[in-house]
Amino acid sequence: MKRCFPLLFLACASLPQVAPAHVHGEARLEIVLEISREGAQKSAQLTITLDTPLDNLLGFEYAPATDAEREAAASMEKQLSHPEQLFVPDAAAQCAVTLFELESPLRTEAPKNEHDHGDKHHHEHGEHHEHHEHGGHDDLEAHYRFTCKNPDALQGLKVRLFALFPRLQHLQVEFAGPNGQRAAKLDAKNTRFSW
Ligand SMILES: [Zn+2]
Repeated sequence: MKRCFPLLFLACASLPQVAPAHVHGEARLEIVLEISREGAQKSAQLTITLDTPLDNLLGFEYAPATDAEREAAASMEKQLSHPEQLFVPDAAAQCAVTLFELESPLRTEAPKNEHDHGDKHHHEHGEHHEHHEHGGHDDLEAHYRFTCKNPDALQGLKVRLFALFPRLQHLQVEFAGPNGQRAAKLDAKNTRFSW
């Protein structure tokens, strides 16, 4: 069954933009569909932004310190670098990946120095999180674009993130296209979003 809450979404969209909450198990997916024409030739651009706590992908949110953690981080980046394995637009639309960009805090962050405050550093999970606070929680943002030769056949896409990253439980999808906006929540049993 399709789940759509247009009124709720419009109400949310009119609120001032706030940073999405950092909740482990939850992530956000923004999908923008644009149709362009060149003469008789139509094409579609599907721009996808994934915003997720690193914990959903890795099980930790700090710069890798051990070989196992470094390996896990490298393998995650490798998986996220294959958009066609993460998102499957309708085959008849003939979509191909044309852009891909990963903003991972792990790439730029130098190894953290241990502070010596006499008492042990306290890691509080599950409580209120501040964004971009070092030693706390971190998000990863990934950008993807597909260009599709047959926009009329493009009615939706399948998300395969749940199979690859089992810590991810819910994906809040926000879609904007030529016919308006929609929102839905996906999970491991409900992996297709249609518009
Ligand atoms: Zn976190």
